[in-house]
Amino acid sequence: MASGSSGSSNSISTSSASGSDAEQELIEKNWQDEANCLGVDPDLFFPERGASTREAKEVCRGCVVRLECLEYALTNGEKFGIWGGLSERERRRLRRQRALAARKVTA
Ligand code: SF4
Repeated sequence: MASGSSGSSNSISTSSASGSDAEQELIEKNWQDEANCLGVDPDLFFPERGASTREAKEVCRGCVVRLECLEYALTNGEKFGIWGGLSERERRRLRRQRALAARKVTA
């Protein structure tokens, strides 16, 4: 879910950035500038429990920064909302699959 000019509720703070944090935030801002959800109602991406996620996922389907968005959510442990076209449950499943795969590589 992108922030920036959409004014969404999960915006990334830039007020206390310094050094590498600032660089990381610049990278994050760049992908957010390309987000398909800029200007889309943020509530769509944070549906009530049990509500449909279909519309949000439709917006994500055509998003050119979908992978960046998903990785941002996974890296930052975003627990709520649709990020990179995946719900919380789908991201948890992906995290588990990655953890299992990483264990197999190191074993
Ligand atoms: S993948 Fe979806 S939530 Fe993420 S930036 Fe694109 S449209 Fe927004």
